[in-house]
Amino acid sequence: MKKVLILGGGFAGCTSAYLLKKKNFDVTVIEAGSNPGGGVWTNFYSGHPYTFGPRIFFTKNNDVINLLTNLIEMRQFDTISMSFVEEDSKLYNYPIQYEDINKMPDSNEINSQLANIEKTKITTNNFEDYWISAIGKNLYQKFVKNYSKKMWGIESNKQLIANFEWVNRGTPIRKEDKRLYQDQYQGYPVSIQGYNDYFKKCLVDINYIPNTRVSGYDYENNKIYLSNKEFLTADIIINTIHVDSLFSNIFGRLKYCGRDFIPIWLPTEYAMPKEITWIHYTGDEPHTRVTEFKKITNYKSDSTLLGIEIPSNRGRYYPIQSEPELKKFQQYKELFPNNFYSIGRMGKFIYQGIPDAIEDSINLSRIL
Ligand SMILES: Cc1cc2nc3c(=O)[nH]c(=O)nc-3n(C[C@H](O)[C@H](O)[C@H](O)COP(=O)(O)OP(=O)(O)OC[C@H]3O[C@@H](n4cnc5c(N)ncnc54)[C@H](O)[C@@H]3O)c2cc1C
Repeated sequence: MKKVLILGGGFAGCTSAYLLKKKNFDVTVIEAGSNPGGGVWTNFYSGHPYTFGPRIFFTKNNDVINLLTNLIEMRQFDTISMSFVEEDSKLYNYPIQYEDINKMPDSNEINSQLANIEKTKITTNNFEDYWISAIGKNLYQKFVKNYSKKMWGIESNKQLIANFEWVNRGTPIRKEDKRLYQDQYQGYPVSIQGYNDYFKKCLVDINYIPNTRVSGYDYENNKIYLSNKEFLTADIIINTIHVDSLFSNIFGRLKYCGRDFIPIWLPTEYAMPKEITWIHYTGDEPHTRVTEFKKITNYKSDSTLLGIEIPSNRGRYYPIQSEPELKKFQQYKELFPNNFYSIGRMGKFIYQGIPDAIEDSINLSRIL
């Protein structure tokens, strides 16, 4: 029986464990936290379920949908996201809607900028230039400029590359459809425990070792070192954690943005209008987003729970999608031995979501 060692027990790690166990591998998962799932694990505050920032499931990939829904029951749920633009003292839909533009104080200027844009073909790979050429200067200033700088903890949006898929969720300005994600499948677990049962079910009959940090990798001798100074070895290593620390930072630390997360309980059934899931704050406020969790979890209570996200240096959650960082990651990648596979958000140093982590695991299990 071939031994597989999986570093990290988030979606990528747990799903890989589940799929490879089914293929008769001897699987071990090492997880630094006391629970699997990373920030997707559901915790409770005064009875209210919440995750570390909202974690909605949305995808077009049927294999991913089938895998998830075979293990846990999901309910269809459409995320409605708004942006508060302080300079206008107004709440607008996000993604931007044509109908909102006419309510903006500078609508004439915006409409004339948009009239020019329709004739221009977007060719740039730079985040700021992409947005300005897609929506014009005024809308960029309102919705993207400051928000993106604080979201990524960067000086200038020119530092980021623009991969159209992740920057505008399909189309920069929309007509009518107000759902954030337009995928045919989007939702959230029915259970009040959120995705917790998914992780638990994936880890049945797996040698799962929580509360243990991977501290290094002797890649020439195929040894994974743990925080307790012990080491493990295996035929195949699947990595889902930050690759820089694994390889002793030899090419330098990869840049990530962290988050502070503050849960706030309020003595009211709903704090935001019923249809709104969360609000983005696009100006100089320190926070990026406020989420009303019961909209997502369907928890019934006469009180409510908000979650405030503030970008910070705590944690390494958002891999900075800039050219120098992507080049640095490529250097690490070139060190990967043949029996080492690196998947998931940290393993690939990519800004991706839950379904992508599951898809990475499905693809990997097919080739092993
Ligand atoms: C605030 C926020 C909101 C998000 N919202 C959404 C959303 O709405 N929808 C969506 O699809 N995606 C969302 N995402 C992204 C999505 O949650 C992730 O892409 C996905 O969960 C990543 O899974 P993963 O297994 O690749 O990585 P992780 O979940 O990060 O798993 C890595 C695991 O490795 C462990 N680990 C780390 N270092 C070590 C170490 N040295 N030793 C041992 N273990 C270690 C971690 O504790 C963690 O459990 C969000 C992300 C954030 C940060």
